[in-house]
Amino acid sequence: MENMNQFLSKLVEKYRPLSSGAPASYIPELAKADPSQFAIAVVTCDGKVFQAGDVSHKFTLQSASKPFVYGMALEEHGREFMRSRVGVEPSGEAFNSIVELEKYTHRPYNPMINSGAIAVSSFIKDTKNMKRLDRILELFSDYTGHAVTIDEDVFMSEKQTAHRNRSIAHLLRHFEIIGDDIEESLDLYFKQCSVLVNTTDLAMMAATLANGGAQPNTKKVLVKKEHVPDILSLMFTCGMYDSAGEWAYTVGLPAKSGVSGGLLTVVPGKMGIATYSPLIDQQGHSIRGVHAVRDLVEQFNLNIFVN
Ligand code: GLU
Repeated sequence: MENMNQFLSKLVEKYRPLSSGAPASYIPELAKADPSQFAIAVVTCDGKVFQAGDVSHKFTLQSASKPFVYGMALEEHGREFMRSRVGVEPSGEAFNSIVELEKYTHRPYNPMINSGAIAVSSFIKDTKNMKRLDRILELFSDYTGHAVTIDEDVFMSEKQTAHRNRSIAHLLRHFEIIGDDIEESLDLYFKQCSVLVNTTDLAMMAATLANGGAQPNTKKVLVKKEHVPDILSLMFTCGMYDSAGEWAYTVGLPAKSGVSGGLLTVVPGKMGIATYSPLIDQQGHSIRGVHAVRDLVEQFNLNIFVN
């Protein structure tokens, strides 16, 4: 590990010149991202931080929020309820596919794609003392270790253009997977997607999952140990959407990408890895990030299937 910082700097140097891909534009505000930005961070289970590149640059979580809110819903409703509403099968479809509901049960295939994640957000309710949005903000503050905020411009930009997600939500309502609070649940989902983090924050979030649910610095348990495998297995089979198989085959670790360009990878029992670069491929994954994580995993022998 001593040479980790050096290796991360080399990765940034090696892949920064890669200019293929483009920032997501279906959420207009995301198209404004600076394509030169590139960062990588590693946080170990005992809280050591290694990083290189533009690590303090902030970006919105987008789908990288999904595993964490799923964890919150699991804690609140338990495994059986969650499984009765949202499946655990890879869909083999794009993140925003509309044909994402299982044939007979009409459950979304899994919580890592939009249909499943919108359902999961709808299950997060106000408590006596706290609004559902504040609960989600507190969750991400606990994961990152500091207060987080929402990028209001990204939120509004998604809300105003989300015809596809809106239609998915109505389909979920039609099949009684979610209740009548469709717009409120969509707003909550768009807001969780608009939470601002930097690459080191994202690595800390991944490291918390690697550490069995306890945040490496504060030691606060953010998701019970028994729920961590539920989250990681879904990240492994479904986190990379329609290239989840390719990722499993070549990297062999649970991961989740977001269309803003964030990518988090969990090395169970060891560390969390995060990258950020807004240039994404057609499946919605950060191109530089995928390359860098592959190299890192190979260099440090991190694939869980390699003995
Ligand atoms: N907020 C985005 C959406 O729902 C997230 C998609 C992603 O990051 O893959 O379309």
